[in-house]
Amino acid sequence: MALSHVSEFAHVQCSSGGLILPAHSPYDRQVVRQHVQQLVGPIGSVQLGVDGKQWTVTRPAGRPRSCTECAQPQLLRCSRADGRTPICIACVLAAPNENVSWEDQ
Ligand SMILES: [Zn+2]
Repeated sequence: MALSHVSEFAHVQCSSGGLILPAHSPYDRQVVRQHVQQLVGPIGSVQLGVDGKQWTVTRPAGRPRSCTECAQPQLLRCSRADGRTPICIACVLAAPNENVSWEDQ
């Protein structure tokens, strides 16, 4: 299974600027998640582009709802412009290919 190039980087955009982060390995994606969590905190909204999709990440006010994908509380809500049900950051950053090996880096 070939990896597409779009899955190798995540583009994080907030009001103070943007950054490109590697999103190849599960560890990379964990780092992306930590950056997004930090940026959403003070600012409230972050644009995240990963795996060829664009997400608006916000921190929901009040008690978080359960994610429809993984049933975990949505501490960060990731929504798309097409109006589909928002999912959590963990589902957005779940590795698209479980067979990615560390040697691929
Ligand atoms: Zn989820």
